[in-house]
Amino acid sequence: MAKVRILLDRKGQKECGIFSFPARPTRYHQVELPSLVIHFSTAWRPIFIQGSRQWPNSLEWIKITLSGTRLYYASLGYGDLASLFSQYYVPCPLDGREVLSSFNPHLQVGVGKTLKALDELPEVLKMAAEEGNGHLKEICEAIVRWKRFYFFELPRILKCKINVLPPDSMICDYNVLPVIVSTGCLNNCGFCTVKDGTEFKIRSRSEIRTQVDEITSALERELKSYRGAFIGNLDALCAPDDLLFYGVDILRQRVPWIKNFFMFGSVHSLVEKDLSFFKKLNSLEANFFINIGMESLDSKTLALIKKPISPQKVEGAWKKIELLNSLFPYLDVSLNILASPAFPASHWERLILKLENEGRSSRGAIYLSPLDAPVGRWFFKLAKSIQIRSKRPVRLYNLVGL
Ligand code: SF4
Repeated sequence: MAKVRILLDRKGQKECGIFSFPARPTRYHQVELPSLVIHFSTAWRPIFIQGSRQWPNSLEWIKITLSGTRLYYASLGYGDLASLFSQYYVPCPLDGREVLSSFNPHLQVGVGKTLKALDELPEVLKMAAEEGNGHLKEICEAIVRWKRFYFFELPRILKCKINVLPPDSMICDYNVLPVIVSTGCLNNCGFCTVKDGTEFKIRSRSEIRTQVDEITSALERELKSYRGAFIGNLDALCAPDDLLFYGVDILRQRVPWIKNFFMFGSVHSLVEKDLSFFKKLNSLEANFFINIGMESLDSKTLALIKKPISPQKVEGAWKKIELLNSLFPYLDVSLNILASPAFPASHWERLILKLENEGRSSRGAIYLSPLDAPVGRWFFKLAKSIQIRSKRPVRLYNLVGL
């Protein structure tokens, strides 16, 4: 019979931030078995797992997201990642995709064994529960219930897939409550892997309210641990102002302690949005993080990635980002820039020229997002050359969904 140790109500981090370890929610439970350690939310949702046999690194964990996706948090030995970006982990999906050139957790024996042990967990706990530990029965039932949530309940509530979360939400370890005000995207970028094929569509107030009511009710027992919300989906900034304020307001009515809101915008929606919208957002006594998919300032690269936009328009968006970050302290507008070893030199030259001529503002991080090539030496070499010329924080971002 497997020996099971349960530690209830352990304390995690109270606030969002960048930590040198995977941040845990304010309160969580720990279950230890000979082959693995599992951290559960207060609703007994498995959130972190670490194996014991042939486990690659004691600093590293598998995280299970709200939709049940398993991500391996690779530390890369706290080398360039920590020193260049003040980042300590790269979340790598465990679906075989090669995110890092030097390490693929999908191929690690210890990771495979741990995932197998996780799948067998309900059976193991059920047997141990027969010995009379009441918590184990509750945990078994919860694991089954969360599986149903991932596969049926969450898709029914959201009525869309959240394939990517804004990179800034890493400060909440991607633990965000989704509030979907619009779906689809008006643009049609050739390189895009996150668009679900639907056209841009805004949701009605009653659809937004129902979705928020249902998600907060489904997550009621762990709601206290959330510190952030995702106003989605792919280009929420394109939605009308009143609808965006409605989405923020309805969530704050249900979860008043949420102080961090994350959303995506496109170059078009950012340029079109009136300054009065951002002024009002800034006055709402919360932090708003908006990530804009700029991708490149270079015409050759924009053509290569089939992004139907002119470099002049991207320049216009960049200027607006500088203005917003300088005017509004509760707003943080960050930029996404694609990175690939196949890009022409002009992609990097234009970016560096821009950074060297920027004003003083150090707000609004630049997220370098690898495209079509795993992160390796080429990436860190380029990132270093960007970092030393930028007054803004520079970070690595590989796509993480809900
Ligand atoms: S704007 Fe973003 S989401 Fe829309 S098609 Fe382009 S890359 Fe995809």
